[in-house]
Amino acid sequence: RLCLDRISQIEALNAFITVLKDDALNLALESDKRISEGNPKSNIDGLPIAIKDNFCVRNVRTTCASKMLKNFTSPYDATVVKKLKDAGTLIIGKTNLDEFAMGSGTVDSIFGPTKNVWGSQIQGELQGNSNFNSKFNQCYIAGGSSGGSAVAVATGASFASIGSDTGGSTRNPASYCGVVGFKPSYSVVSRHGLIPLTNSMDVPGILARKVEDVASVFNIISGPDDYDSTTSQNHLEQVDLNKKIDLRRITIGIPKEYHSPLMSPEILETWQHIRKTFETAGASVKEVSMPHTQDSIVTYSILNQCEVASNMARYSGILFGHRCNSTVSTNQLIAESRWEGFGPVVRDRILAGNYFLLRKNYEKYFVKAMKVRRLIADDFNNVWSKGIHILLTPTTLTTAPLLSDFMLLDNRAQCSAQDYCTQPANMAGCPAISLPICLSKEGLPIGLQMMSRNFEDPLLLSVAHWLQ
Ligand code: GLN
Repeated sequence: RLCLDRISQIEALNAFITVLKDDALNLALESDKRISEGNPKSNIDGLPIAIKDNFCVRNVRTTCASKMLKNFTSPYDATVVKKLKDAGTLIIGKTNLDEFAMGSGTVDSIFGPTKNVWGSQIQGELQGNSNFNSKFNQCYIAGGSSGGSAVAVATGASFASIGSDTGGSTRNPASYCGVVGFKPSYSVVSRHGLIPLTNSMDVPGILARKVEDVASVFNIISGPDDYDSTTSQNHLEQVDLNKKIDLRRITIGIPKEYHSPLMSPEILETWQHIRKTFETAGASVKEVSMPHTQDSIVTYSILNQCEVASNMARYSGILFGHRCNSTVSTNQLIAESRWEGFGPVVRDRILAGNYFLLRKNYEKYFVKAMKVRRLIADDFNNVWSKGIHILLTPTTLTTAPLLSDFMLLDNRAQCSAQDYCTQPANMAGCPAISLPICLSKEGLPIGLQMMSRNFEDPLLLSVAHWLQ
């Protein structure tokens, strides 16, 4: 009930697309009963979870924040959702995102942008500070594309949220909203029922206030799945944060190419500060080089658009999705439905992707991008083989931009600045986490990112837990 009240209090932030009030209340009663009988289904039985609206939830509208799926009700649960339901958690609502998760700000949704709670009038209200807005009269982006999920957690509207992460969409909003955002290793969490953006990089992500809460959710949703042939057949060990970790056995890598000229001095200082924290605790810290880092964004852009061109082909308005009124011909019906149903960012990526995939361009762009992707992944492999356990970098180059400034940029420019530090991990498939560290002078959250070798999610979470 407290979470549902909070959802009403934060309505102006536009974090939720659908609120599942009655369902959540009914399930809460059942959960209460189980817990009072000493029979909980899991250690997070009864806790409210918000789900990004690109995951299917049975009998619930799943829109991807697109006109194309505005009236689509899913007949099945995504595996992540099913596992969370089986663990007794309550799905409290579906959260806002950029259309089909294409973006880095949660500004490009047919339901309108999600606003950050930090620096908003609502922050003042939640903190009982009525003079608050005299200081902040503007509105900051929540980050994206899982901005609604991040705001839900940051405001206490949910215990944890599920997001998706293809180039940083879980970590970026987590950093801007002052919460923890975790992208597990590719293939450790099933993508079944996550409406695809870039299949070869999409990973369900977890947002919560504490690393231990992220770990509890991770332990439930990870594991092989017959419905997703890309899931790894190896069961990861359950994450146990009670195990003591000896920092003297950990080597932290600081990749020099992550020093972007666009990085704000406050972010740099925070990065330095945490590096020292690790050194003081006995970890060894080494500078490392990952020379292909700056190629990640443009390579991603090509691979993403090619996969988008293919993925979006299924939305024809025939079997499902928006259907226009045209009765001229089947081709006309498909073309018009797609024109009406997709927003400009999606249409732009479909066109670009089809261009890169033309027979004459395939080798020049797509195949080349695949090769560069390999080089980026090899940068990571080299670092791990040199004995680095954890890479420490910023998550974003600055604190959350003002919505008005952000809207001056087009989607490509928005993403290239936002995803600089987060995108490479998706190329490599390795686990990565954004942790809230401190507030800037302006009072906005600053996050840092840590990454580890593929499938070393338990180690990464342990180190993050230590730092938090
Ligand atoms: N910003 C990137 C894009 O728009 C990544 C988004 C994501 O991680 N879902 O494609």
